[in-house]
Amino acid sequence: MKNTILVTGGSGYVASWIVRYLLEDGYTVHTTVRNLERSDKIAHLTALQKKFPDQLHLFEADLLQNGSFQSAMMGCQVVIHTASPFKLDVKNPQNELVYPALQGTTNVLDQVNTIDSVERVVLTSSVVAINGDNQDMIDKGIDRLNEEHWNTTSSLKHAPYSFSKTVAEKKAWDLQKKQERWDLVVINPGFVMGPSLSGRTDGQSTQFMMDLLSGKMAAGAPELTFGYVDVRDIAKAHILAMKQSSCKGRHIVTENSYSVLEVANFLDKAFPGQFKLPKRSLPKWLMYLFGPLMGMSWKMVRRNIGLPFTYDHSKSVNDLGLSYRNITDTFSDHANQLMDMNLVKRPK
Ligand code: NAP
Repeated sequence: MKNTILVTGGSGYVASWIVRYLLEDGYTVHTTVRNLERSDKIAHLTALQKKFPDQLHLFEADLLQNGSFQSAMMGCQVVIHTASPFKLDVKNPQNELVYPALQGTTNVLDQVNTIDSVERVVLTSSVVAINGDNQDMIDKGIDRLNEEHWNTTSSLKHAPYSFSKTVAEKKAWDLQKKQERWDLVVINPGFVMGPSLSGRTDGQSTQFMMDLLSGKMAAGAPELTFGYVDVRDIAKAHILAMKQSSCKGRHIVTENSYSVLEVANFLDKAFPGQFKLPKRSLPKWLMYLFGPLMGMSWKMVRRNIGLPFTYDHSKSVNDLGLSYRNITDTFSDHANQLMDMNLVKRPK
């Protein structure tokens, strides 16, 4: 019986839901945050401590400090490692993304090697470790991406967040193969959307929803396709990966792939005519002109805009046993939360 679980990065959007579901399932949960003094980042965790007395224990740990996760990991059977910087607008990709992702994974797994009670590690990777640009699928001559594919096109200069997740996941597999005590199951989520338990608004997922609803893309949406998934489904996928001893390898977890315009259309159906949502996609030539102002290089435009791509998520259904929530509910639940929090004006 796996009783005590460590979740790294409990202040995060994805980890918050994992912690909550584990507590509801009766597990004892250890979770790490960078700074226990930051009540703005841990209020949702202290509220959960009150709701589930003696089940949730908070620890301080930093991905960049060797040995930082030791006390949090003591006595745990499973480590769910989610903490990793997720930001797209960075000045120094090596220091802000790659180093913490890689060094953090190394620190956490080096610690796992010293703590005999740990039997399994569940790692939050990403679909960006499966492929870099939408063009990759065309270059590979395939019509859908699966867990056998790896991102070979991102680098420090081109899509550094994707590069950070790829090198971190590779490192995890390397470290796992060097020993036999603990196994590794990887979750590769698509773009995660849905309500935030922490109420934080600084995450990429919430920022994207706020940009759409606030009319920032009213003139037109970039013709970009992503795989989307509900944050509650991602949390459940981690818990299924933890529980099922037969689970192996990587798992793409996306409900399906949609263009930004399709997401806007879902929202328009849920809230008819109430928001200034985009009604058309911006032509690619316009993206070459304005993309750099939105943080998209010409290479990014060339290799992604207007190019479809699809993931095969069947392993998440067949092996993990995950059933996906209707994605339209994901988007409308997220929008409703932002309106409840007065972050987006509720239309009259
Ligand atoms: P998030 O809300 O920004 O959470 C990131 C977490 O990592 C936070 O708890 C953050 O702590 C922690 N962290 C960052 N740098 C750290 C450091 N140096 N030491 C200790 N902790 C550190 O992002 P998220 O969306 O929940 O992402 C969680 C995981 O899911 C990440 O591995 C991300 O790559 C992956 N993922 C996310 C998505 C998505 O669409 N959201 C999609 C695919 C994969 P602070 O609160 O102190 O900053």
